[in-house]
Amino acid sequence: MTPPVPGFAEAAGHAWRTLGLTWSASRGLTILIAALTVFVALLPALALYLSKLVMDGVVTAMDSASPADRDLAQLWVAAEAATLAVLLAARRLLTFYKTRLHAELGFAVTSLILRKSAALSLAQVEDAAVQQQFLLARQYAASRPYNLVNRLFDAAQQGLTLASVAALLAGFSPWLFLLVVAGGLPLFIGNLHFAGTAYRFYTGRSPQMRERSYLESLVTTEAAARERLHFGFGDELLRRYGELFHSLHADDSALHARQAWIASALGVLSSAVFLGGKVWIVWVTIGGAISLGQMVMLVGLLKQGQANVSSLMAAFNGVVEDLLYVANLFAVMELPEEDRSSGATAGPDPEDGLRFDKVSYSYPGRKRPALDAVSFHLPHGSRLGIVGANGSGKTTLVKLATGLYAPDSGRVTLDGLDLRDWQRAALSRRLGVMFQPYMNYKLTARDNIAAGRGLAETDAASLARAARLGLAEELIAELPSGLDTRLSRHFLDGHDLSGGQWQRLAMARAYLNDEADILILDEPTAAMDPAAEAEFMQRPLDGKSVILISHRLSNLRHADQIIVLDKGKRIEMGSHDTLIAQGGLYADLFESQADPYREG
Ligand code: ADP
Repeated sequence: MTPPVPGFAEAAGHAWRTLGLTWSASRGLTILIAALTVFVALLPALALYLSKLVMDGVVTAMDSASPADRDLAQLWVAAEAATLAVLLAARRLLTFYKTRLHAELGFAVTSLILRKSAALSLAQVEDAAVQQQFLLARQYAASRPYNLVNRLFDAAQQGLTLASVAALLAGFSPWLFLLVVAGGLPLFIGNLHFAGTAYRFYTGRSPQMRERSYLESLVTTEAAARERLHFGFGDELLRRYGELFHSLHADDSALHARQAWIASALGVLSSAVFLGGKVWIVWVTIGGAISLGQMVMLVGLLKQGQANVSSLMAAFNGVVEDLLYVANLFAVMELPEEDRSSGATAGPDPEDGLRFDKVSYSYPGRKRPALDAVSFHLPHGSRLGIVGANGSGKTTLVKLATGLYAPDSGRVTLDGLDLRDWQRAALSRRLGVMFQPYMNYKLTARDNIAAGRGLAETDAASLARAARLGLAEELIAELPSGLDTRLSRHFLDGHDLSGGQWQRLAMARAYLNDEADILILDEPTAAMDPAAEAEFMQRPLDGKSVILISHRLSNLRHADQIIVLDKGKRIEMGSHDTLIAQGGLYADLFESQADPYREG
């Protein structure tokens, strides 16, 4: 899917908004660049006018042989030289300030994108179309908005120079000015057509580009190395990579060849128009209608004018192409944000705990709901077990129970209040969660735990308590720098952990928040050894309630209630004994797992 090319009013709006971004990124630089642009724009016409005075001064001095005329001619030479020197210096200065603006604007735009990304809901983040928009916006964050602004300044500069050239040319004949414009027109039209084609071409094939970088990552990353080496598919990956590259490259070359061909033909046309004008000026000079100085100036103006027209056109074409990318940036900025900073911090019925009332949720584009009219009640101080095959909706239930998704129908309430009406921070304080999959942060061990309280500064006693409850005490003690060990081999003095060790840290993270009275643990012990798992499962609740998702049914024996999910539906609910007595799916599953775990 390629984004549509915006209309004129919309494009102008985007250009204006980008200038607004520039202004807020750095007022000082914007003003400096604008002032220098005007200055640099007006100097070429002045220099050309001075060259006319020089030439006419020389002719007069030769005719009169008077020292005053000679001095005057030399004065004009000095003035012309000074103008050119100032022009050169001002251009340098302009480039210098623009380089600084490039960095400032790139940072400002990237920050905006990151801030936006952080403010989106989980459902938005998981949306493939949104991911695509962000990918494109991030990829060009540093280049396109700056390019657009730079080209707008360029266009203004070229436009101003052209206006000053036009004023001088029109004094001789308005036809010459028309000639200048006519000379630039073919290139303009050719490029305008090309800008839209190139954009559609490059954005239209971003799926192949993503495929290419994915293949690259399979060959280079550590995570993929074990299977790649063992199964031996490195060569096949390289072959696919090469094939993809050659097909992309062939398309590229065809596009560039077509562009080069059109550009040369149009370039020849433009030069022919310019040469025609020059022939005319020389003809008129020989006829005695204008002075030698005027001839020099007019030929210079014609040349300057034509250069301006093609630079103006080039800037304009660039603007069109950049606008297409910037339109995507603004579309990203306009994505609705979820403001969860306000809202209730307590519910009307503090004794009620967590409740699912006929909750359904479907992923976009999926026919079957991932969760279908599921109800249950988790009173304070109770344990709820959830069982189900892969894909039965357990993880979706966790996302709904933590308020990360809003149900399509039905209600999730905490203490009698819909989760949607809770302030996010308050919810986060009430719920300790271990997600599946959990994150392994390549930060310090301390950060891995402190993430459970928003990475806030955390006292040693709280960290130690969380580490103990997460069964991570021992592993932290063995790290070379304890809590301050960087958990990645990619850093000097870094250290890597095993799967089960990472899981203990994730559990410590879920436990850090000691205010949380509801723990939601999705497969918390899957990567742990049986001894650790048994220790964890036999732990007293201390008045908290727990939702525990586990494939090992023996872990759920002590739950007050167990829910069996199948294809998003709650098909059984009850205590272990009730469910066994019922002889349904739970009883079958338990029987098939029983032997290794059966209590002797
Ligand atoms: P479980 O945790 O029990 O394995 P999930 O809750 O992850 O199951 O998934 C339930 C159903 O929803 C599955 O059919 C799965 O394919 C689908 N699903 C899960 N996540 C997504 C997603 N981000 N987009 C689309 N479908 C999804």
